[in-house]
Amino acid sequence: MCGIAAYFSRSEAGAAAQVMLALYSQQHRGQESSGITTTNGKFLQMHKAMGYVKEIFSQDVLEQLNGFAAIGHVRYPTRGSAVLTNAQPYIIETLSGPIYAIASNGDIVNYEEVALELQSRGVHFTSTNDGELLGRFIVYHHERKGLEITEAIQLLMKRVRGAYSAVFLTRNHLYIFRDIQGFRPLLMGRVGDDIAVASESCALDILHATEIREVQPGAIIVVTPNTTYEVPLSPALFSGVGEAPTMRQCIFELIYFSRPDSYEFGEYVYEVRHKIGAKLASYDDFEADVVIPVPDSANFIALGYADAKGVPFHMGLIRNHYVGRTFIRPDQYLRDESVRQKFNPLKDFFRNKRVVVVDDSIVRGTTIRKIIRMIQRAGAREVHLRIGSPPVRFSCFYGIDTPTRQELIANNMTLDQIREYVGADSLKYLKIEDLRNCVNQPNHFCYACFTGQYPVPKHAYLRTSMEKEQI
Ligand code: AMP
Repeated sequence: MCGIAAYFSRSEAGAAAQVMLALYSQQHRGQESSGITTTNGKFLQMHKAMGYVKEIFSQDVLEQLNGFAAIGHVRYPTRGSAVLTNAQPYIIETLSGPIYAIASNGDIVNYEEVALELQSRGVHFTSTNDGELLGRFIVYHHERKGLEITEAIQLLMKRVRGAYSAVFLTRNHLYIFRDIQGFRPLLMGRVGDDIAVASESCALDILHATEIREVQPGAIIVVTPNTTYEVPLSPALFSGVGEAPTMRQCIFELIYFSRPDSYEFGEYVYEVRHKIGAKLASYDDFEADVVIPVPDSANFIALGYADAKGVPFHMGLIRNHYVGRTFIRPDQYLRDESVRQKFNPLKDFFRNKRVVVVDDSIVRGTTIRKIIRMIQRAGAREVHLRIGSPPVRFSCFYGIDTPTRQELIANNMTLDQIREYVGADSLKYLKIEDLRNCVNQPNHFCYACFTGQYPVPKHAYLRTSMEKEQI
């Protein structure tokens, strides 16, 4: 998973500072690396580094990144390891210099196939990241095949399968596009005459953007110094390859990944989470003393539960906000350690209480097992675990960093075995039909991590034999 942003100013320079603010609001989408590329109309400049947005983009760095338009990225590695060569944006050098750059969020399913095809035509890659693949695809078809950039992007939409929400910058234009199934969110808005783009609306709020709207799947928005126009999804793209596939927005964005103050996929994230909590509450008929969330991702789910049941909601676990997302830590040892450093229970709060603990999901089970033990040691009489999603049984191939199927606890254990492993007195997951009822257009979502029904026929596109084994 990653976050992207772009800013096109029609009046002055300073686009980099705006993109930095948008990335800062989206730090939860990726903490490994961050980068910004700007254009001053003559050439592109870039700064990227490993680490947090605020640390990388000091005032000095921002002042050097001058230009009226900029794109940026925060990375959380899915494809390619966490090294600087895989950080985005990517600048694509040509004989005319550094004049193209791209930043994208998602995961490409047929990466190898498209990369091999481009390589066989003499295109070289400097990383294993899909942002570079998208960028080189566009530049190859524009520079060497003479297509307009919008035509090259349309061809890309036909050839490249999987998830990509992307921003592509040239010396004078910004192109904004989203894959035809719309797996990842992408929104844009106006700041006066300027155009701002981000993966999540919370980042546009901080820029005081108005007229915020979603970029439609398969659409291309072109921003020039004088105008902004849209090239809608073209049905001609699919002649010979069947129907346009239906929208498959990632339901996990709403459950866990996005910030609750964001609006995306036609939904307010906090509202969906509140509804999920109310559904979970409808499964129970016992009286708990208190409902607590695993902060922060389950806060609104727990609140929904508490509101529906009339049970007091409390923040019984205190989270150290400086630890970062434990799941994103690259290896198991770091993950184990940081769970303990991340949460601490309130003293004397749990003593003798019947507690409902709400979390958004269980992936490997590492986090919740430790948390339940903490709450029990703090004196709780009973701990009932409620999960705001169905069991995660399948890996994601569209940009969420789920581990291999073998590591997913719900793939290996029955419900009762999981309950025993995590040490809860009872365990209930949200039912998939109830999850579907929490959104306005349930048929427009991807539920593959719960159902194994992958919207892109992945067997045709698997990258390695190891991945084939995992399915
Ligand atoms: P685990 O300890 O592996 O069961 O991790 C589950 C916790 O990590 C959940 O409580 C979520 O809040 C969070 N989580 C779930 N999926 C992801 C993901 N793809 N990336 C980062 N964090 C996640």
